[in-house]
Amino acid sequence: MKKGKLIILSGPSGVGKGTVREEVFKKPELNLAYSISMTTRKPRPGEIDGKDYYFVSEDVFRTKIAQNGFLEYAEFVGNFYGTPQDKVEELLISGKNVMLEIEVQGALQVMKKVPEALTIFLVPPSLNELEKRIRGRRTEAEDVVQARLSKAEKEIKTKDEYKYVVVNSKVHQAADEIAQIIQSNITE
Ligand code: 5GP
Repeated sequence: MKKGKLIILSGPSGVGKGTVREEVFKKPELNLAYSISMTTRKPRPGEIDGKDYYFVSEDVFRTKIAQNGFLEYAEFVGNFYGTPQDKVEELLISGKNVMLEIEVQGALQVMKKVPEALTIFLVPPSLNELEKRIRGRRTEAEDVVQARLSKAEKEIKTKDEYKYVVVNSKVHQAADEIAQIIQSNITE
């Protein structure tokens, strides 16, 4: 069986990666699987352990780092996030196209390790719009909102490292564009 493609969906916090990803996953022809990340962040209301993330303690996370258990990991605004390596490999071998939804430092690590990965960067229509979206989520304290916004400005500067840049003005449009990008890269 043909090995699946590794797909990185990155972009600043609040840009809507999760929402766009859910839309893209509605297209069965893309044969996608999602890699569930591990994080030391506390769950937000409604988030489910083992579905949205594996929520773990910093000790557990550090042990996994020591065991070389991550394809990539990064510290992001005070918490750790990482992609468990074994599961990704297993899914790729089974022929699935595996999508990682990760921040920029992690994406840059994967680009080095897996140069053939398909890399997509999602940008907001403007920084003002991004601020509205982060605030609209109403889950973060003001200092965290500010930290995520200043981080976002820096993150957007890395967009040229990616093979594709997609603007998230309308979720459906962005999702369709990403689906087309994936389709053309898995049939090449
Ligand atoms: P949030 O706390 O909003 O869920 O995630 C914060 C940032 O971490 C987002 O940009 C999200 O995409 C990113 N992220 C989620 N999982 C991972 C991961 O496994 N590795 C890395 N490097 N970033 C991740």
